Amino acid sequence: MSDESIDFTDPERVGFETRAVRAGQPHSPTTGAVVTPISLATTFAQAEVGVTRGYEYSRTGNPTRAAYETCLASLEGARHGLAFASGMAAEDAVLRALLPGDHILLGNDAYGGTFRIISKVFAPMGVEWTAVDLTDPDQVKEHWRPRTRLVWMETPTNPLLTVVDIEAVAAAAHGQGGLCVVDNTFATPYLQQPLSLGADIVVHSTTKYVGGHSDVVGGFVATSDADLAERLAFVQNSVGAVPSPFDCYLSLRGLKTLALRMDRHCENAAAVVELLVSHPAVSEVLYPGLESHPGHDVALRQMSGFGGMVSFRLRGGRAAALDLVTRTELFTLAESLGAVESLIEHPAAMTHASAAGSPLEVPDDLVRLSVGVETAADLVADLGQALDSI
Ligand SMILES: *Cc1c(COP(=O)(O)O)cnc(C)c1O
Repeated sequence: MSDESIDFTDPERVGFETRAVRAGQPHSPTTGAVVTPISLATTFAQAEVGVTRGYEYSRTGNPTRAAYETCLASLEGARHGLAFASGMAAEDAVLRALLPGDHILLGNDAYGGTFRIISKVFAPMGVEWTAVDLTDPDQVKEHWRPRTRLVWMETPTNPLLTVVDIEAVAAAAHGQGGLCVVDNTFATPYLQQPLSLGADIVVHSTTKYVGGHSDVVGGFVATSDADLAERLAFVQNSVGAVPSPFDCYLSLRGLKTLALRMDRHCENAAAVVELLVSHPAVSEVLYPGLESHPGHDVALRQMSGFGGMVSFRLRGGRAAALDLVTRTELFTLAESLGAVESLIEHPAAMTHASAAGSPLEVPDDLVRLSVGVETAADLVADLGQALDSI
């Protein structure tokens, strides 16, 4: 069967894993190569002025980037996808839709960089914001102002693993005439598809699970709204925070194994949680897979797995947390998440230091794990010996 006969981007026709491997990635018409080439050309020949084969200049559009954009958009069930040089560049592109005097509702538990770009980059330019607890969707209506344009939410959140009901928050935003943006970095489209639950825009740090190997920084925006997509493409080209062709190649390669990796991340996280819930040094485990987690029912409804992120609090407070993160050997003390290797960190002093003193400040007895794809027993043994020694 030739490549042309099946639309490998169509979620109605082919499954997630098939789209991950094939969407946007036809075999080379000249060589038959099964891997999308890294197209380094910055410019493309024109037959006549303005007559191109779809590409003219690589900031505006690039074949490797287009393959990747098509593939990840398809995985999100989106009609349009745009790749950026980082997750923050993707967020910036979305936030540039706002004008001075416009207002954002931001979930009160969010990635530190999201809080920073809104409060320290956009706020001085006149954009207003309020942090609200989105686990109560009524907060949307309560805090809505005449110039509120959008609700920005994460679920599960970084680093507290709070689960927010996407369908309810999107409906509340739409009820007020605004947009709902979901940062889907933690769940990935394999476990959660926000657009199908009513969200208007999905953003990603593809640096995390999409790339999956701690070797490429990137961001992504997906939407099925043609007007929003046109505006975002205009910003992508005008501002120019685009990923390199090599970055796009790595991210596209990451997508091909996303489903396999996520299954293992989920399994390993569950094994680690089993240890944590029974360890006397741990006062609380934050993981949506636990029945005791306040968002467990919503997670069951809107996610197909609980992901690879686990946070927990220590009875010994900040000192114990800072001590523990130096005592693991397989879990590496480092920022970031979502890759094959397991990481451990102290959010209050590391990833979320910029939220100190704000409504998004995180507790200082908190430790965050990004559980990788190593042998589960090795991960449990490593964390166990570290917890026993603090
Ligand atoms: C890392 C991260 C970002 C920022 O992405 P970068 O690729 O680091 O710019 C945004 N949101 C979440 C949830 C993240 O974890």
